[in-house]
Amino acid sequence: MSEAEAKQIERMKSLLASQKSAFRAERHRPIDKRKADLDRLADLCRKNADAIADAISQDFGNRARQESVIAELAFVIQDAGHAKKHLGKWMKTRKVGVPLTLAPGSASIRREPKGVVGIVSPWNYPFQLAMAPLVAALAAGCRVMIKPSEYTPATGEIMKSLLAEAFEEDHVTVITGGPAVGEAFTKLKFDHLFYTGSTQVGRLVAMAAADNLVPVTLELGGKSPAIVTPSYPQDAAAKSIGWGKFFNAGQTCVAPDYVLAPNGSEKSLGEAIIKVAQHQFDDSATDDAYTAIVSDRHYERLNGMIEEARTGGAEILQPKHDAEAARAGRKIPPTVVINPPADSRLMTEEIFGPVLPIIGYSELDAATDHVADRDHPLALYVYSTDKTEAERVLDNTMSGGAGVNINLLHLSVPDLPFGGVGASGQGSYHGEHGFLTFTHERSVFRTGKWHPSRLLAPPYGKMYETVAKKQMK
Ligand code: NAD
Repeated sequence: MSEAEAKQIERMKSLLASQKSAFRAERHRPIDKRKADLDRLADLCRKNADAIADAISQDFGNRARQESVIAELAFVIQDAGHAKKHLGKWMKTRKVGVPLTLAPGSASIRREPKGVVGIVSPWNYPFQLAMAPLVAALAAGCRVMIKPSEYTPATGEIMKSLLAEAFEEDHVTVITGGPAVGEAFTKLKFDHLFYTGSTQVGRLVAMAAADNLVPVTLELGGKSPAIVTPSYPQDAAAKSIGWGKFFNAGQTCVAPDYVLAPNGSEKSLGEAIIKVAQHQFDDSATDDAYTAIVSDRHYERLNGMIEEARTGGAEILQPKHDAEAARAGRKIPPTVVINPPADSRLMTEEIFGPVLPIIGYSELDAATDHVADRDHPLALYVYSTDKTEAERVLDNTMSGGAGVNINLLHLSVPDLPFGGVGASGQGSYHGEHGFLTFTHERSVFRTGKWHPSRLLAPPYGKMYETVAKKQMK
């Protein structure tokens, strides 16, 4: 560990202590202050949109500006606006009924902020995936420490300085640093830890949090399939899948990872997807609207996967592109791989890049079995014009979220919980679900003048017998 990292670790311990005491001084941040917090965050996005998009692009080598505007900045502005609009309703104490035997009493659920929360974010949407959990935590009235990914240092630095201008250090703060800092961060005794990243590191985060019994949300990855049925027009499926897969050059946790298509249609579907890519980017290697691969490590990993499939006999389809310029710009052109070997890395690991395997299936049940036999993915997409058929696919599989005849955009519906299941994660956020992630629902039971426990206390009499008999029915 470097000296700078050791200093960061000391600094974050003292920041945690000051955030905890600030929280104790104001356990129930009033609604007006929370709304003002959300406004400041949205304003920060509006006023610094260019600088934030530039920082993200610097980190990627090239990040399509249009993608940063819509998927990072606008997303957070909308998310903050939605939370502000509904906050009054979300914060309300809920009354619940009481059984007759406990009457007259009243029961309610108070929605209280959990306290000081930690957010660990990845590199693929380096702004949104730190700020959207922040929106939820601010709405819930929490204090927040954020640890962004070391792979996107320019975005980490700009978030750090802009949030320092907009918020007191004991309210919101950013800690930068690599895995050693990340590891120390996840060992802190937060009141909740929110982690987005790989399944592999997620496991370590869960173990670190377990040591302190810190509740944890894990937003992980996985292999999200798209199942195309014979009923769905091939060109329409290609348009939708091509868009979702090549957005951010496939570096999206809910991008279709691979496609299951009826036997015999793999190649024509692949060609249709490549045609879509060719229409989107005249030459993906030189077009700024096509995003680069974030690091040399990921660039080599993805090329290695393509080469392994080629050696294994799979056919590789790509649109025309300037191969030299692609290499120089660390870009991998939109790539479709027809029927790669089942044991190749393309079919066994999360791809997280613009490489799309298409594999054939004989019957729909074989396609859903393929999915059900593996870890639950973060998302599943089904393309079918037949509602019963689409329902059958949903019934026979499990995934964090799902899209019917569409992909990616379920995450833009603010009232849908966003999160994984099993190996793709636990817990969820967005909208009220995010607010609840950082909220403790505290049960309060108030008795009336007459105390029902008198019935249940010794010496046991007739009343006890009557109540017990009724309860045993
Ligand atoms: P990563 O797990 O390598 O890193 C994520 C964060 O964890 C970084 O801030 C990193 O510094 C930190 N970290 C690294 N080692 C750590 C350790 N030992 N202890 C604690 N923290 C540590 O993930 P990544 O490569 O940045 O992101 C890609 C993965 O994230 C993919 O699997 C993708 O599917 C997943 N992802 C999931 C979602 C979602 O919403 N479910 C969104 C985006 C990405």
